Amino acid sequence: MSGTTAMALPAMGLDDLLHGDVVRPGDAEYETARRVWNGSIDRRPGAVARCADEHDVVACVDAAAREGLHPAVRGGGHSFPGASTCDDDLVIDLRRMRRIEVDPDRRVARVGAGALLGELDAATLAHGLSVPAGIVSHTGVAGLALGGGLGWQQRRHGLTIDHLRAATLVTADGHLVHASEDSEPELLWGLRGGGGNFGVVTEFEFDLHPMRPAVTAGAVFWPLDAAPEVIERYREWAAGATDEVTSILVLRRMPPLEGVPAEFVGTLVIAVVACHSGPPEVAEVDLAALRSCANPMIDLIGPTSFLQHQTFFDASYPHGWHYSVKACDIGALDDDVIGLLLAAAEGIRSPRSSIVVWQMGGAVARLGSGSAFRGRDAAFTLNINGNTETASGFADERAWARRLWEDLRPHHAGVYVNFLMDEGADRVRDAYGPDVYERLLALKRRVDPENRFRRNQNIDPDGS
Ligand code: FAD
Repeated sequence: MSGTTAMALPAMGLDDLLHGDVVRPGDAEYETARRVWNGSIDRRPGAVARCADEHDVVACVDAAAREGLHPAVRGGGHSFPGASTCDDDLVIDLRRMRRIEVDPDRRVARVGAGALLGELDAATLAHGLSVPAGIVSHTGVAGLALGGGLGWQQRRHGLTIDHLRAATLVTADGHLVHASEDSEPELLWGLRGGGGNFGVVTEFEFDLHPMRPAVTAGAVFWPLDAAPEVIERYREWAAGATDEVTSILVLRRMPPLEGVPAEFVGTLVIAVVACHSGPPEVAEVDLAALRSCANPMIDLIGPTSFLQHQTFFDASYPHGWHYSVKACDIGALDDDVIGLLLAAAEGIRSPRSSIVVWQMGGAVARLGSGSAFRGRDAAFTLNINGNTETASGFADERAWARRLWEDLRPHHAGVYVNFLMDEGADRVRDAYGPDVYERLLALKRRVDPENRFRRNQNIDPDGS
């Protein structure tokens, strides 16, 4: 705790207006309400409005405009830089708005902005349907979907935004707007990757696709000594991989997973985590070349339910630890990149830090000309996670992550906006590239000219 005292915001009429409630400094639930997933973020809002419905969101946006506030907007609270909380200002918390309605005939889901990924998967898979989303079940749908939405189905079915057919949002002037291909198509385009810049989304409408609940998935681990051989095999394998599989390469210290012998826990390892959504016999063949490489310490890949696999990484990223990430897209896993990754992996000290390489391509590259997401051409996207359980050692891990990211600079080919920390306006431009940025800027100037919604990866209407 920082020990500082937050200034409570005045009532602004909200306490009587909201169907939800308002939590302020001094209230019993304030400590919980102010916190977000990243425990290194220690901010004290003046009020947290826990909205129950879109009427509440309109009331909050009206109050913000009246009082000159710049609210933070919270879906699942998983923003790496903690953009969904703030000091002294208002937080619009949508977590209670998490109703999910699935229409199996139309293959459409209407999803409240407070829903988490695990809730979305459970609701849709109950009908044998799915929308591609991320890899940790406690992440919020809202922030993830507004930035892009990488996940286990991306190479087969694309990103979350590729399935976003419409959204309802409260814009800075307090109006409820429905953005779809027929009404406000430019706004819909901006919401597909442009983040929280254009208003507070209260509900998303996603197209669903049929999905078998069973997949072939899990992880194979090797000791770090085997990494040069494994990573070379991985590179060859990934280049020819079917779109039915999405994989993630991880360098880290072995976590205490179920089925992992105690003597392996804490040792430096390289792992491939994969999810294959084709028939099991096809998956066996498609994954064989990878799994037979070198001598794995342990192979946990097998038939499982997609819902179960969606929780594979959950325990590695619990609420409250100290997290920092440096991220970049890269065009290829060439020898120079591999050398840098391996050298940095030798220096991983915290059992919570990791280098994570996402396999892109497939449907990510083929779909989505109608979105503001830039990284369609990336072969891989990287997270370098400098994490610790508490503040102790956090600065060192952050510095380690930054060093590798700096070393990789000649290979940077953009960055995914949802993997940015607070890195300034130039990095936001990097995430979109000049053409998409200019188009987002024009949209921002139209719908939020005063930059009411600025606690995000901001498209500043002043152009700065
Ligand atoms: P919040 O912190 O609630 O929101 C983040 C920002 O999104 C807000 O500051 C606001 O600007 C905006 N926002 C949120 N809700 C709304 C709304 N209703 N209306 C308007 N703006 C809104 N990304 C992937 O693509 N794939 C992954 O698999 C993936 N895994 C992750 C796993 C973990 C553990 C974490 C921490 C992050 C992961 N990410 C992933 C990154 C993730 O997409 C972003 O952190 C995202 O912002 C999280 O959304 P949220 O709603 O939980 O976050």
